[in-house]
Amino acid sequence: MKDFLYDQPAARIIFGVGVSQRLGEEVQRLDARRPIFIATPGRRKYADEAARSLLNMTPALHAEAVMHLPIETVRAAREAAKRHDADCCIAIGGGSAIDLSKAVALDRGIPVLAVPTTYGGSEVTPFYGYTEGGVKKGVRDRKVLPKTVLYDPALTVSLPPSISGPSGMNAIAHCVEGLYAKNANPIMTLLAAEGIRALARSLPVVVREPANLDARSDALYGAWLAGVVLGTVGMAVHHNISHVLGGTFNLPHANVHTIVLPHAAAFNREATPEAMHTIAEALGAQDAAQGIYDLVVRIGAPTALKDIGMPYEGLDRAAKLVAENPYYNPRPVEYDSVRQLLENAYHGKSPSSTRGVSCAPR
Ligand code: NAD
Repeated sequence: MKDFLYDQPAARIIFGVGVSQRLGEEVQRLDARRPIFIATPGRRKYADEAARSLLNMTPALHAEAVMHLPIETVRAAREAAKRHDADCCIAIGGGSAIDLSKAVALDRGIPVLAVPTTYGGSEVTPFYGYTEGGVKKGVRDRKVLPKTVLYDPALTVSLPPSISGPSGMNAIAHCVEGLYAKNANPIMTLLAAEGIRALARSLPVVVREPANLDARSDALYGAWLAGVVLGTVGMAVHHNISHVLGGTFNLPHANVHTIVLPHAAAFNREATPEAMHTIAEALGAQDAAQGIYDLVVRIGAPTALKDIGMPYEGLDRAAKLVAENPYYNPRPVEYDSVRQLLENAYHGKSPSSTRGVSCAPR
């Protein structure tokens, strides 16, 4: 057993089909009367209905959240919250809405209540990301950790397979990197393995039968575990690369994670045999990297950066940005090896083809 430090930020979690009906009582529990609902434009209608359902309160709605959170979007939301004199942020949606709520809440010193509808995990992490000058930056502060999270699988039924699959892979990425984090600890290792298991068994059903509430519940459960891992231990080369690709090339967040993850696992294969064993076992595969790739193919998610708008000439720059500012990683992060990883991810090569061995799932 390695030495460890366990210091987990915690939120009040309410999980179950229909729990979003308890929004009013949970807002009251925070002593809030003037909440501001924050959502992406696509979720405006639902957020508006939720706002109207609150009795004896004066809610406002700001449905302007966008992925990677440009700093201008943060400024506009902070202005809207100030105008309303908001005393609570209610995030309804995925990481875009939740991260924007955190940025607003930090500015005003008010709590966040999150109702997540994707599998990204932001609702249980004490940080948010935003983009300024083409660079993705992060703010870490325990004050932004949502005080209350309502996980209602019924709200995820409308999430289309094309978003559900990659979003679930985003959650698996948190678990994978949590297993070889510099500050890994035994509890997060248990959560990460269970998160991979829950997502690997549920995602194929979720994309095939989006209205299957058992699978949706299982996936959301896995996403919660993944979010806790993300919020508690450090992430490594996979998140490093994904943040650079997302922030600098404005690529879709969850799709980038989906494509890069098998290659990041292959990159760390020899440096972290124990983590790889845990990942492979949780996936029911012989090889972690290939098992992840096979799952991506199985859920019909994208496998190649070239298919989601990555310019080939940007690979050099991306590798340079990662190598110049590397996160901790069990294997040293150098320009040449990262450039090769990106080349493989650009073309969507399978990890077994780049390794020269066949790794069929069990
Ligand atoms: P997202 O929040 O951008 O949502 C993706 C799309 O799905 C949006 O168009 C949204 O309107 C739509 N959508 C969401 N829920 C829906 C539903 N139930 N039905 C139909 N459509 C729905 O996607 P995301 O991947 O969750 O978040 C990405 C952003 O979150 C990035 O900016 C990323 O950096 C950030 N993020 C932050 C953390 C953190 O811990 N701070 C973690 C993960 C992601």
